[in-house]
Amino acid sequence: MGERLPLRSRPTPTVHSRSSGDQLKSPPFAYVAPTSVEEALTLLAEHGDEAKLLAGGQSLVPLLALRLASPSALIDLSGVPELDYVRRENDHIAIGAMTRERAVERSEVVREFVPLLSVAMPLIGHLAIRNRGTVGGSAAHADPSAEIPAVAIACDAEVVVRSSARGERTITSDDFFQGFFSTALEPDEALIELRFPVVGPGTGVAFEEATRRHGDFAMVGAAAAVRTEGAHIVEARIVVIGVSDKPVRRREAEQALAGAEPTRAAFEEAAALAADSLTPPSDLHGTSTYRRHLVRVLVRRALESAVQHSQEGG
Ligand SMILES: Cc1cc2nc3c(=O)[nH]c(=O)nc-3n(C[C@H](O)[C@H](O)[C@H](O)COP(=O)(O)OP(=O)(O)OC[C@H]3O[C@@H](n4cnc5c(N)ncnc54)[C@H](O)[C@@H]3O)c2cc1C
Repeated sequence: MGERLPLRSRPTPTVHSRSSGDQLKSPPFAYVAPTSVEEALTLLAEHGDEAKLLAGGQSLVPLLALRLASPSALIDLSGVPELDYVRRENDHIAIGAMTRERAVERSEVVREFVPLLSVAMPLIGHLAIRNRGTVGGSAAHADPSAEIPAVAIACDAEVVVRSSARGERTITSDDFFQGFFSTALEPDEALIELRFPVVGPGTGVAFEEATRRHGDFAMVGAAAAVRTEGAHIVEARIVVIGVSDKPVRRREAEQALAGAEPTRAAFEEAAALAADSLTPPSDLHGTSTYRRHLVRVLVRRALESAVQHSQEGG
């Protein structure tokens, strides 16, 4: 990495001089590197919806290379250290937008208090991707098969966003993730933090996936968090991915499990409830019927593992 110059003393920030060509793949864009959130938000307001924030670049850079995105400016957040943290604050764990996925994977605080997030992290791509990819980037990108949005919805996490014009607002995950690569973020807003409620002891978790190759996005995935007391399930959370335009909470199945004994029959029934009303899309990799079958299998497996984990103390 070269020396990081203060923004205002940088040379004219046009990076690419060719609009198309044989050597450079991305469309031309200006590059700016703020060193504070305030500066990033000012730049975002100045450039409007022509600009894109750049976090780990693991989703955005391929989009640029394929010319599926052509922002006029990239505002690089990697020099904004105030967005890189994992800390406990009262009843939640706050994770800054620029926290790398690998840092979350290795965090003891996350392992203890947001165990579902901890077990989900190794399922994201490959190590090299998690070393660069960020929590905020994954949430803002809102891939319907991504793990972090699924965990956020399962845990009722909150998303904190901020703009220079209107200040900060806090959005529930349900409202934040709106559909296929679509969120409640306004063009002048940055995602600042995700807040995951602290999970009490005795909650078991599991994240099961079917992927074509190691490191691929899941064809279908199922996240489960189950709290048992004695011989009964007190509460269950189930979210599935790869079946709709965003992660889907399976509340009917959750309700069927509340108060039930954790038997194979109860898991089968809940898995059927989770699968039957879904109409997943068909594509090259699998038909709708196959994906629904996967939901049924993966939800049952996730419930079995989560209950076992819960009975071992969570
Ligand atoms: C080969 C490969 C396999 C992968 N497999 C998986 C997988 O299995 N599961 C998975 O979940 N992900 C996977 N990913 C994606 C990876 O997790 C990305 O890191 C993540 O989706 C985007 O994070 P990023 O920090 O790289 O964001 P970037 O690529 O930098 O940005 C993504 C988008 O978010 C916006 N953005 C970034 N930060 C902010 C912010 N603070 N506020 C507002 N907007 C912001 C950007 O403008 C851009 O639109 C994979 C990626 C690759 C290349």
